[in-house]
Amino acid sequence: MAAFVIDGKVIAAKVRADVAADVARLKEQHGFVPGLAVVLVGEDPASKVYVRNKAQQTVECGMQSFEFKLAEDTPEEEVLELVRKLNADPAVNGILVQMPLPKHMDSNKVLELIDPLKDVDGFHPMNVGRLSIGERALAPCTPVGSVILARSFKDDLSGLNAVVVGRSNIVGKPMAQLLLRENCTVTIAHSRTKDLPDVVREADLVVAAIGKPEFVKGGWIKPGAIVIDVGINRVLKEDGKGKIVGDVEYAAAAQVAGAITPVPGGVGPMTIACLLKNTVEAALMQRGLMRA
Ligand code: NDP
Repeated sequence: MAAFVIDGKVIAAKVRADVAADVARLKEQHGFVPGLAVVLVGEDPASKVYVRNKAQQTVECGMQSFEFKLAEDTPEEEVLELVRKLNADPAVNGILVQMPLPKHMDSNKVLELIDPLKDVDGFHPMNVGRLSIGERALAPCTPVGSVILARSFKDDLSGLNAVVVGRSNIVGKPMAQLLLRENCTVTIAHSRTKDLPDVVREADLVVAAIGKPEFVKGGWIKPGAIVIDVGINRVLKEDGKGKIVGDVEYAAAAQVAGAITPVPGGVGPMTIACLLKNTVEAALMQRGLMRA
């Protein structure tokens, strides 16, 4: 039987609707509107598109968007000074510095200067550490969105064998931490993993975050497994036109899996939706209004 297709566009729209409802309630009950500041340094075309989409969706959810576009050759100290200003600005609840930064800048230095309570990307070592010890933390958006997608198909992931392929700081590692929090038995696989197909065959839940087109084969998937494909790879079709594919061999995997996310239209739309969700969470934390 063909897998259930987890529709990231629909679920992301629901996350954004929940954010908009939270924002309206905060405005009505507490008289304030959360704000997200996005800092873009340089002219990277993909980053420009991301930043534009983030700003647009922030406003659509009723929040304030503050955009800072700096030239490629901006001195590092100027970016650090901007982050200090945003840290101190009470109208700014979330700060996102779009990566990659130009080569003359130390990305870690910039990220570590962001107030951890405003670190809506969840990349600050304080949030990374808090996530790993099971404390309340702002967690990276793509993994947060991936968990929401998996839970949209099976609410209780407890006890599942989860295999995360990829161990990057922005996807693989936080994904593993979040799945541990969901009480999965988590294996992290990477380029040095032996017998990867056999490792993946054991998984009730597979997360592919590798960056290689259709790398995970349909034949590796355990029948009935949940497959979350984080990969975004641009490939050329036979007619010479470009298309986007994931890290999983979708057509074959969809014949075996219980549920699968498509690419595009799966994890992709969740990332910005979860950024907005993190911004509301950050605003609640800063004002001592956290949900249980
Ligand atoms: P990285 O390149 O930082 O990490 C890739 C990981 O895959 C590494 O841990 C690497 O292992 C592992 N890997 C590489 N080759 C193999 C292999 N042959 N076998 C097993 N593991 C392998 O990528 P990211 O984590 O940043 O991104 C992963 C994918 O997700 C990309 O396609 C990216 O575009 C996409 N992405 C999508 C987002 C979204 O919004 N949907 C957001 C962020 C990323 P090792 O550590 O050993 O080198």
